[in-house]
Amino acid sequence: ATDESPVLRTEGLERRFGGLLAVSGVDLALPPGRTLGVIGPNGAGKSTLVNLISGHLKPTAGTVHVGGKDLTGARPWRVAHAGVARTFQIVKPFRGLTVADNVAVAAMFGPSPVRTPAHARREAAQVLERVGLGGRGDVPPAELSVADARRLELAKALALRPRVLLLDEVLAGLRPAEIDPALRLIDELRRDGLAVLIIEHIIQAIAAISDEVLVLHHGTVLTQGPPRQVLSDERVVEAYLGH
Ligand code: ADP
Ligand code: MG
Repeated sequence: ATDESPVLRTEGLERRFGGLLAVSGVDLALPPGRTLGVIGPNGAGKSTLVNLISGHLKPTAGTVHVGGKDLTGARPWRVAHAGVARTFQIVKPFRGLTVADNVAVAAMFGPSPVRTPAHARREAAQVLERVGLGGRGDVPPAELSVADARRLELAKALALRPRVLLLDEVLAGLRPAEIDPALRLIDELRRDGLAVLIIEHIIQAIAAISDEVLVLHHGTVLTQGPPRQVLSDERVVEAYLGH
């Protein structure tokens, strides 16, 4: 599937904050059914990269294409309509709604034509089942454990029926026993044809499910390649241990 055309592509992506180059010269190409792991120390530019792709930040240079369409600098709703869904590092459910209604609302903002609330609720029920929150639809988000709050965040993203899924530190705060099931779920989504970009701070967690790993360091790509190669790269070891 390597020669399949990418559903997500960035070229020379850059974001400056005043004098700081948070992201610089990032080229990536992600075909459907593949997972790209993006790792890097705190402050490396990982969340900024996701924000540049999702439309939550505008690049100061470079381009973002989704399914061949130029979405550089497009607003988040347009990017979502093009099939890109994301999770946030800081989860932000609507506190006044139940878990199921949070997902139903997300479904109503999806790229498919107008849906009725009843349709959105049915879709929400399916998505909640998929992420393992089938029994928790009626509770307020505040009652969820950290792991379940992350599942809700994922469910909201999936309710958009995306082609590209951007996951920003979805494993953070999970107990060790919760990590494998989360990785298995993400890998299943990938097998169903989603293009997954997963951001983590720790490489070991995502090496197992990533086809390629890209290492960000001070906003630039330090190296990119198969997980095993990246894990044994001296510059990567240096960037992590010597910082
Ligand atoms: P990571 O997610 O890898 O920890 P971020 O992308 O959040 O890193 O941040 C990269 C760099 O950009 C950091 O130095 C951070 O302080 C800076 N930064 C991020 N967002 C902003 C912003 N809105 N304004 C100014 N600086 C920012
Ligand atoms: Mg971050």
